[in-house]
Amino acid sequence: TPVIGVLALQGDVREHLIALATADAVARPVRRPEELAEVDGLVIPGGESTTISKLAHLFGLMEPLRARVHAGMPVYGTCAGLIMLADKILDPRSGQETIGGIDMIVRRNAFGRQNESFEAAVDVAGVEGDPVEGVFIRAPWVESVGASVEVLAEHGGHIVAVRQGSALATSFHPELTGDHRIHSLFVDMVRAKAASGSL
Ligand code: GLN
Repeated sequence: TPVIGVLALQGDVREHLIALATADAVARPVRRPEELAEVDGLVIPGGESTTISKLAHLFGLMEPLRARVHAGMPVYGTCAGLIMLADKILDPRSGQETIGGIDMIVRRNAFGRQNESFEAAVDVAGVEGDPVEGVFIRAPWVESVGASVEVLAEHGGHIVAVRQGSALATSFHPELTGDHRIHSLFVDMVRAKAASGSL
């Protein structure tokens, strides 16, 4: 059974822990570099990317996170987590840094402010059956992607789900719905990576 961490600096950590457990992973909060070293994969939750960025520095996690993502650890970011995985932010707050890992440019708060949050059915490549119920909360969209990035979903003509190798990201929050198909997809990515690593 894969052990998957949830970066627990700020954001909806608990919802991801529950979703991962439902998707048959062992889920643990990660706050310290030693905890990061022990997981097979990592989820970066929704919340506020500027805060997560600041706290990652404060907790000495930014460099270890970059190193593990660069080394190919499977990682899944939702909303603020998607922003953290972007190689570039179009409109960063001053000093805002990302972990990077996905060759994309993201636009923060692209769909509007809090009162413009919405839900929409989203077709996600690789997820069988009905569309996913996408919960968008001050969500970013992906402005552009590099050649090695796979676009998994769009909404209103904007990219809202991507994958590059072992890195997965969505603008929306599957952890806030009862539907754990995207978490299952990620758990499968972690399993596949662990199997290939042990060959
Ligand atoms: N707007 C937030 C940010 O820029 C993301 C919101 C969310 O994660 N729901 O980090």
